[in-house]
Amino acid sequence: MSHYPASMRQLIKLMAKLPGIGEKTAERLALHLLYASNHLVEELARSILDVKQKVRLCSRCFSLSDGELCGICSNPSRDGLVVCVVEQPGDMAALEKSGSFNGVYHVLSGVLSPLNGVGPDDIHIRELVDRVAAGGVREVVLATGTSVEGEATAAYIAGRLEAFPVSVTRIASGVPMGGDLKYVDQVTLKKAMESRRALR
Ligand SMILES: [Zn+2]
Repeated sequence: MSHYPASMRQLIKLMAKLPGIGEKTAERLALHLLYASNHLVEELARSILDVKQKVRLCSRCFSLSDGELCGICSNPSRDGLVVCVVEQPGDMAALEKSGSFNGVYHVLSGVLSPLNGVGPDDIHIRELVDRVAAGGVREVVLATGTSVEGEATAAYIAGRLEAFPVSVTRIASGVPMGGDLKYVDQVTLKKAMESRRALR
């Protein structure tokens, strides 16, 4: 690598830090950018900065947004009565791609994990309870993963929602045990959403 100028080496080093990109791919991408048009490179650099500066969390569902409310929360054709609870924005993206859900979401930003010191106050559970308590929610679909933590989180939330007149369902069938939603294929995910079962 020492045959490259320092600025190239720096770019390769930084890109190799990205997930799924080893040093070889980083080198290929750096060379590609070197020979790409100024326009493309400037747009790319600007869009990376844009994402960092503009994207924040939706104040209602905690998914990624570039405004106060995300595109789904502010879309009047989505069914706000049904709230699907997921671990991460990536899980929400997977469900959206499967086209199986027309409600709204609540992103926990994690799962309960006592071993890693993650308790109920560390993820957005209180905000979910507040949303339900405020009324206007008919069903909460628990779509956390099927790992031990995902199941424990779903059970904990179901317990917290017991006091409210809301139906609580769990997607289950078809999602492999220990599975992360974003790695499940779309057909399976669609089936899992359609065949959700009542927890109580
Ligand atoms: Zn939102």
